[in-house]
Amino acid sequence: MNIHEYQAKELFASYGIPVPKGYAINDRNGIESALAKFGDNEAIVVKSQIHAGGRGKGTFTTGYKGGVKVCKTKEDAKAAAEAMLGNILVTHQTGAAGRKVNTLYFTEASKIQKEYYLAIVMDRSSSKPVIIASTEGGVDIETVAEHTPEKLVKVFINPSLGIRPHQARQVAFALGFKGDTQKQCIKLLTSLYKFFWENDCSQVEINPLITTPEGNLVALDAKVNFDDNALYRHEKIVALRDFNEEDSKEIEASKFSLSYIALDGNIACMVNGAGLAMSTMDIIKQHGGEPANFLDVGGGATEAQVTAAFNIILSDKNVKGILVNIFGGIMKCDIIANGVIAAARNVKISVPLVVRLEGTNVKEGKELLSGSGLPLVTADSLDDAASKIVKLVKSAA
Ligand code: ADP
Ligand code: MG
Repeated sequence: MNIHEYQAKELFASYGIPVPKGYAINDRNGIESALAKFGDNEAIVVKSQIHAGGRGKGTFTTGYKGGVKVCKTKEDAKAAAEAMLGNILVTHQTGAAGRKVNTLYFTEASKIQKEYYLAIVMDRSSSKPVIIASTEGGVDIETVAEHTPEKLVKVFINPSLGIRPHQARQVAFALGFKGDTQKQCIKLLTSLYKFFWENDCSQVEINPLITTPEGNLVALDAKVNFDDNALYRHEKIVALRDFNEEDSKEIEASKFSLSYIALDGNIACMVNGAGLAMSTMDIIKQHGGEPANFLDVGGGATEAQVTAAFNIILSDKNVKGILVNIFGGIMKCDIIANGVIAAARNVKISVPLVVRLEGTNVKEGKELLSGSGLPLVTADSLDDAASKIVKLVKSAA
C-alpha cells in the first residue's frame, strides 16, 4: 500500500525526522486559509499529491507545467494551486493517462545547499533491509544506478540486530557529511530505520534529502510503501489508504479476496494460483497476445468469486477475449466447471471465452462445459488455449 507525501511526512515527523512544515488541502475553498498560515515574505512550495514520482518535471493535460512549484509570493502559490487541483498530472511514472490531483500540499520552501538520495528497501535476494544512499539526489535514481553505479552506497542491515552505529556512520561518511551534519545524518538514519521496521515498510525513499546552507538535513520529499501482508497489524496506516489513487477494479477484487492487477493488454485471464497466472500471461505473450490482467482466484474459488471475477474482467473496456486456465488439484475440475457455467450465465459475456481445465475430475469438468450450451471454446493444453484465444481475438479485430 502507498501513501501520499504529506502523510509520509507526518509519520516522519512523529519519528523525529526533520521535514518542512506543511498543510494539505483537497478543496479549492481551503487554498486561502492554508496560505494564511505562512508568513508574508515566506516562499511556499505547492505540491501535487499523487501516488507517483517525477511530479516536479510533470505536465498537466491542461498544458500547465510542473506538479511541484516553488512560489515566491502567496499570489503565485494561489495561482499554482488553482492550476493543479482537480487537474490531471502526467509524469514519467503515471503513464500517458496521468493521475487526477485531488490533494495539494503547501510547504515552506527550504534553502537548498545540496540534494542527496536516501532510501531503505527490502532486498529480496538477501532477505535484508538495505540502505541505499547517494550524493546524486533530486534526480532519477535509476539513471544514477545505470550510468554511475559507483555513486550509490548500499549497506545491508541484519534484521535481528537492526541498524548498528557503525553502519549509520558508514553512510554518513559516504555522503561526505562532517561535524554536526554528520551527527544529524546518523540520528536521521537511525530514526528512518526504526520507522521502516516498526511499520513493516517495503520501501521508504527520501529524494531529495537536502542540506541547508546552515548544514541542517531536511527530508524534502517522502515516498513510503507498506507490505500489504502486514497491514492487518497497522490500523492507523490502513486508515491512510486513498481509494482515489487505486484502480476501481482492483478495489472490487480485494473485496472478494481475488488477487487482481490491471494491465494494458486485451486478453483477460482467470487462473487459480499465482504461479499458473504468471505462466498464463507469459504464454499469451509468446503467442503474440497481450494480457489485460493478472488474476488469481485462489485455490478454493467459490461460484460467487468466479462471478465477481468475470464482472471485474468485463468492466475493463479493453478486454476482447477471456482465457480461463484452471488446474484442478484440491479443487476439482467439475466443481470449477459448474462455477464457470453458473457465472457465465449470470454475467453476459460478449467476448470469446476459452476454457482450459486440467487435473482432478477433468473428464467430468469438460463434459459439463460442452453440455452447457454456452458459446465457449475448450482447450486441451495451456499452449492450445493460448493459441486459440489469441487467434479468436485477432480474427475479431
Ligand atoms: P518529485 O520527486 O515527485 O518530482 P519532489 O518533492 O522531489 O517531487 O520535488 C521536486 C523538486 O522540487 C525537488 O528535487 C526540489 O528541488 C524541489 N522542492 C521540493 N520541495 C521543496 C521544498 N520544500 N523547498 C524547496 N524546494 C523543494
Ligand atoms: Mg522527489
